[in-house]
Amino acid sequence: MKRCPTCNAKHSGKRICHRCKTDLGQLFDIKAMAAAHTAKANAAYKVDNFSRMFYHARRSYSLCQTPESIKIFACAALLNKKFDLAFFLSNVIRNEDKITSPTMHHSFRPSLPDLKAQKS
Ligand SMILES: [Zn+2]
Repeated sequence: MKRCPTCNAKHSGKRICHRCKTDLGQLFDIKAMAAAHTAKANAAYKVDNFSRMFYHARRSYSLCQTPESIKIFACAALLNKKFDLAFFLSNVIRNEDKITSPTMHHSFRPSLPDLKAQKS
């Protein structure tokens, strides 16, 4: 992060923006957590634990989407035979700017319960 997402001031490296006083620390923490999950996904891959790899890759992707986290999540999806998701992520990699909300994709979101059916 080179600029404050609130006021666009140059970032000084501190957790509080010097201009608008936005607390940027939580953003740093989220990035650090995402990096930790990426590292755990890589470690799980090295010991052929693909379900664990998938868990950590998904956590990393949901916290902070980087080209690396998208690719690792796509590989984890393939290794876990989640081909719809892998295909979707391959499109995210190819057209990152065209897809505005990949986390809303239907293939890996749980379907919502039918509230009308539950009323009776
Ligand atoms: Zn600011």
